[in-house]
Amino acid sequence: MKNYKKIVVLTGAGISAESGVRTFRAQDGLWEDHRVEDVATLEGYLKNPQFVLNFYNNIRQKYCLENIKANTAHQALAKLEQEFSGDFLLITQNIDNLHEQAGSKNIIHMHGELLKARCTHCMQVFDWDKEMHVHDICQNCQTKGSMRPNIVWFGEIPFEMDTIYDALFEADLFIAIGTSGHVYPAAGFAEEAKQAGAYSIELNVTASQQQSNFDKIILEKASISVPLLVDAIVAK
Ligand SMILES: [Zn+2]
Repeated sequence: MKNYKKIVVLTGAGISAESGVRTFRAQDGLWEDHRVEDVATLEGYLKNPQFVLNFYNNIRQKYCLENIKANTAHQALAKLEQEFSGDFLLITQNIDNLHEQAGSKNIIHMHGELLKARCTHCMQVFDWDKEMHVHDICQNCQTKGSMRPNIVWFGEIPFEMDTIYDALFEADLFIAIGTSGHVYPAAGFAEEAKQAGAYSIELNVTASQQQSNFDKIILEKASISVPLLVDAIVAK
């Protein structure tokens, strides 16, 4: 592989699925057997806040606090960040903390994180590893009942989009891992990077809907393909 200077990696559900994390299924609109309208929209939250908080309490416990472990794909990306001498940015659509668990540092959770909460009154974001309740009080502004999961719900704008587009514009290598290519804006990142001149690689179990925007597509489980690709990059 040639010598790259700026790498941007995008990860999606596929990389965490191998660690046992179940994610939203676009085909039937269900997430953990719930309708996304009920558990992943502002309208659903306003209609029944504690029901929605309980949903996140449940998956926070299951996917962040119990025995879910990062796999070899997460570990390889942490190694790439550590050993690559150029700029490296990891963008994930996943809300679990498996990348952090593996040791990744420069990471954007564009759809938010299960282990963060924010106050809808003062907008302060907090680390959060306990249950959330409708009567929780913001530790910054002391407002009662203003805390919500720091998750980007359907209809809301993903986090740090300016930083992401700047990085895509400057990248010379873009790698998408385990992402379906259905969900925008992430589905458009490969095209952005390619148009700006990056070489683009897709690692997936089945090809995404963005095939034409990739120079190379490797159809294989992430736990196998990512370590091989990382070794090829850092060997340079
Ligand atoms: Zn507050």
